[in-house]
This record gives sequence, structure tokens and C-alpha cells, in this order.
Amino acid sequence: MTERVLPPTDKYVVLHIDDEDEQLFFAKTFLEESDPSFDIVSVKTSKELLDQLDEHVDCIVADYVMPDLNGMDLCKIVKETFNTPFIMYTGRGSEVVAEAAFQSGVDDYVRKEADPSHYQLLARRIKSHAEAYRSKREERQYQERLEGVRQNLNLIASASSMDDVASITFKIMEDIMGFNRGAFIYLEDGVQTPIQSIGETPDIQWDLDELDFDISQKQLEDLWALIVLLRMDTVHGILTIFQDKPFNPQDYPILEAVSLLVAQAITRVMQIETISASEKQFRSIVENVQDIIILTKPEGSINYISPSAEAFQYKPSELLDRMWGELVLEEDMDKITEFYKGSLSGKKGKINEYRIRGGDDMIHWVSHSWTPVVVDGVVKQVVSAVNDITWRKKIESTLYNSMHELEKANKDLNDFTHIVSHDLKAPLMTIESFSDFLLEDYFDVLDEMGQEYLDSIIKASNNMRELIDNLLTLSRVGRIDTEYSQVDISELLDEIKIELKPQMEMKNAIVAGQNLPTLVTQRTWIKQVLMNLVGNGIKFNETNPPRVDVSCVETSEGYHFRVKDNGIGIPEEQYEHLFKLFQRLEHTKRYPGTGAGLSICKKIVDSLGGEIWVESQEGYGSTFNFTIPDEDIESVDDSHEAFEVSAEELVE
Ligand code: ADP
Repeated sequence: MTERVLPPTDKYVVLHIDDEDEQLFFAKTFLEESDPSFDIVSVKTSKELLDQLDEHVDCIVADYVMPDLNGMDLCKIVKETFNTPFIMYTGRGSEVVAEAAFQSGVDDYVRKEADPSHYQLLARRIKSHAEAYRSKREERQYQERLEGVRQNLNLIASASSMDDVASITFKIMEDIMGFNRGAFIYLEDGVQTPIQSIGETPDIQWDLDELDFDISQKQLEDLWALIVLLRMDTVHGILTIFQDKPFNPQDYPILEAVSLLVAQAITRVMQIETISASEKQFRSIVENVQDIIILTKPEGSINYISPSAEAFQYKPSELLDRMWGELVLEEDMDKITEFYKGSLSGKKGKINEYRIRGGDDMIHWVSHSWTPVVVDGVVKQVVSAVNDITWRKKIESTLYNSMHELEKANKDLNDFTHIVSHDLKAPLMTIESFSDFLLEDYFDVLDEMGQEYLDSIIKASNNMRELIDNLLTLSRVGRIDTEYSQVDISELLDEIKIELKPQMEMKNAIVAGQNLPTLVTQRTWIKQVLMNLVGNGIKFNETNPPRVDVSCVETSEGYHFRVKDNGIGIPEEQYEHLFKLFQRLEHTKRYPGTGAGLSICKKIVDSLGGEIWVESQEGYGSTFNFTIPDEDIESVDDSHEAFEVSAEELVE
């Protein structure tokens, strides 16, 4: 622990003037003996005395009669410059002399006696005057230093950097306190950072735990250190002053005051630095985001607008103090009333889109969100982020138009497919009818080659009928919504089995259903899907007997159907092609078909909101999966403006 070392009290310096050596000798000997705190300096002439006189002399003892100047005149000269106590010490005096002496400014009058005991009286007088003078002098010096500190208060308060604080502190130390060697250390989180030093200073890191006092002295060999902790709540810095002799504790109160002021200055500088760092950070964020950041007063006038305002062809400076609303298009003014209301009431909010006029008269679409800054219940300002969404709006509208055109094109294509397919049916019927006539009435007259030609015509026209039927179905899926109803899938499968009877009988095929639900769906279309998948399961099958299992699992989202066969299977790399129109796999070319069945299935399942996919292994059968989302019959009736497929259309 650092001891608070007090310097030894300085001795009282007393100038004694007498023209007799003997007198001087006795006085010095007796006085210094009777009070060891005296340092008696003997002089014989006034000149000598005036040469030695300075503010550190604590008392003057003078004989009345001297060769060059009498005591009273000397006193007058002394008092012109210093107020040093002046004791007239003479053997020749009288009441009259004493009276005259007091009038000339002498402070005391002691008679020289032959008896040495009078030195004790003289010693007491000297001491009492010297003490009073010293305390007055110290009081005056203290006041002067305090005044010096007071005059420098503004300087400390105006310090704007840590270096500034250190320079001003040293200025006070030097100019007012008279110290000229020192070090200023800034302290943060226990880390001591030297900021500045003056004079020759040893480089010392103090152990803070050892410094219990705000001010303490330490002797470092022949050097003295005065360690002043710069404290405001906690220690913010350390000021160390060095000198060759001990410090005077009378300086402590002033140093304490200075240390508090400097600590305040350090705290303020740190706050300023933190604020300016966060201000810089804020600016760099605000000035680098694409959004336009605007600070407005509660009534809407612009205080700040980020440089990104240039996107609207405005210089930020030309928008200052203007109302944001001035930029808004007349037609959209009512949209931003929400912003003004929020600004005044402290409510944050967002307007999705409105238009403003740019500096170049161009119209910009913007979205605008704002947050009022409320302090003590009062809206101080409003921070807005305005985003230019002109491009998004353009893209949206292009997208909307393209979608519209696409929908129309799709519909046209469906209509076209429907019309063409429909129109193709009439000539096909003619071909079929005449082929039938030929078959019935002329078959026998034809030679073998003619009969083969006729057979090819009938096969080709059957194939064409199937193709046209498939195309018609496909076009209908896009165009016609059939009515939603409760459909018992088990019953539906029985119907399918009846319709597929010829194929099943030909191959002895087995079709079985398991866990088949009753669900709300479009009967015609789900029947078409199952019909195609079951039909394929029997068709692409060489196993004896062919078997197709239809099952269903209810899931949280709806129904998951599986149509599993023990047929020829599909290579994995072909999965993705299966559902495209007219795609028939290479290894199944020998089976009849048009390649439209699975794309019809996909189109139907898509339109019902489900998904379709296949799992298969070549040679081991295939499983076609499809899902149908759960539909609530009431909501379905409301939401789908269903109309029944006309009998005519279905027959087609
Ligand atoms: P199509 O049956 O008229 O040929 P689809 O669109 O129904 O046309 O089927 C497309 C192709 O997918 C078929 O030609 C066949 O190659 C393959 N395919 C469909 N179902 C099966 C199945 N269950 N097993 C093996 N291959 C199948």
C-alpha cells in the first residue's frame, strides 16, 4: 500500500540585520536553539537584506540604528514589495520610537536586553508573526491557484479529444501549480494507455489496487511522484507529477478539484467519441441502403433525406424542409393520409404502394414504411424507409399480361383441338361406314390382298378414332369442370371392370380393390384416371394371370391412391417422359395405344389439385400413385361454379 508521505515542514526563514557581528551571532545561536524550526540568516547591510528577500522569507528582524539606513526606512522599502513581518529589535528604543516605528509599518517591537532570556520572547514573537504570515501567504497562493483553475474551466469543458484533455491538464499543472514533469494516462477497462507527458518522466504503470487514495505521494529513489487518480464514479485516468522534492499536501484540495474536472472531461470526450462513432455508423448504413431514408418532423416536413433520393432525380438538399406529400401524385394523396396520421399520433405503419413525381417529372411507384421516434410520449421525429418499386410494378404488369395471353392461348389451343378433333370425326365415320359396307357386302369378292388392305383400313381407322377420342378428352379436361359429388370409388372400380371386361377376359386378368373410400370429387375425371391406369396395368402385362390392385390411404391432406400391376415394368430413366403427350416407350411399341392416356391422367390430377408419379422396376411391375386433396362438399359447391358435362359432349 502506498503510504501518504508528508513532506518535512520547511523551516522558518528569518532575516536578521544588525551591524554588530556579536549581536548577530548571539541572536542566531539563541534563537535557533530555542526553536529548531528557525533558520536565522544574518546580514549586516540593508542591501544584503534586500538581495536575500523573497516571498519565502518568513520574518525580518532589524536593529533600529544601522550605518546605511535606519530600521524604519528599511521597513518602508520592504513593505513596498513584500508584506513580510518586520520586527524592530533594538536596545535604544523608547515609547516614542516605538510609536514612530509602528507608523512606518513595523509589525512588532522587541527590546534588546542584556539578559539572554529575552531571546525566548523574541523567538515567540518571530514564530507567531511568521506562522500568521505563512498561513496568509498559503491562503493567498491557494486562492490564486483556485482562481487559475476556475479561469481554465472553460478550456477543460471545451476539450474535444483525449489529447486536448491531456494538454489542458498539463497547462494547468504548469501555469498554475508550477509543475513541469508529468504523465497523463487514460484508463479503460483496467488498461492504461499513455496519452501525453511533459518533461522527463519515468515510464511507470501503476498498480491500481495499490492506489487507495485519490492523491498519494511515492518516493522513487531520489524522485518524488504525486499520483492523482482522475475519478468520476470510477477512475478514468491517472495523472502523475514528478519532482525532486516532496510535494506540499496543501496543493491536494486543488488537485482534487482538477482531477474531478478532468475526469468529467474524459467522460465527455469518450461519450462524444462513442456518439460520433455511432453517428458515423448510422450514416454509413443509411447512406448505403437502397431504400430512401427520410427523417421528418411530426407534421411532415423533411429534416434529412439520404443520398439515395437521387434515384428520384432529386438532390437531398433541395428536399430539405419541404413536405414529403408535395411529391405525391394528386390521385394518391388520400393514400398517404395514413402516414400523416401515424406521424402525429406516434403510430408506425406501411403503405404498400403509391406514386410520387420525380425531379425529372417521371412517375415512380414506391412502398413506404415509417416508425415515429417517441420520447416521453412526444413524437420527436419520424423515420421513413421509402422503396422504389417502379421496376417491380412494371414486371408485375408484364407478367400479368403474359399470363393473361398464355391463358387465352391455352384456351384457344384447347378449343382448336376440340374443333379439329370434332370435325375429323365426320370423315372418319364415312371411312368406317364404307369399310363396314365393304366388309359385309364385298369381302368375298376381294382377293386375299384386297382383304388385307381392307383389314389395314379398319385397323387404322380404329386407331384414329381412339386418338381423336383421347384428344377430345384432353381438351375437355382444360375446358370443362364436371360437378363435384360423393363418389364411392369401390363402386366406380366395379363399373370400370365391366367396361374393361373384354380386355380382362382375353388375358384372364384380375382387378382388385382395397380400402377404397367414398370421397367428394369430379366423378367423370377420377373414373377416367382409374380407367387409364387399370387398363395400362392389364395391357402392359405378360404375367399369367395379370393382376392390378387398386388401393387408397387417407392422409392429412387427402387421399393417396395406388394402382399396382405385376406387368412388364418401366425403366427408371423413362419415368419423366411417361406423362408427356404421345410418349410411348420403346419396349412397349408392340402394344396398341396412342400415348395420350397418362398425359390425360396428369392433366386431370393437376386440375383436381393433386400429384401423379410412378414407382417401377423393369420386369417386376409398376405402381402408379396419385393424390387427391380433401374437398369439403359444401365449400366445393360454393367455390366451383360447376356445370354438368352435357350428355352430348360426353358421348362425343
Ligand atoms: P398408351 O397406353 O396409349 O401407350 P399412355 O399414355 O397410357 O399411352 O402410356 C404411355 C406409355 O407409358 C405407354 O406406351 C407405355 O410405354 C408406358 N406405360 C404406361 N403404363 C404402363 C404400365 N402399367 N406398365 C408399363 N408401361 C406402362
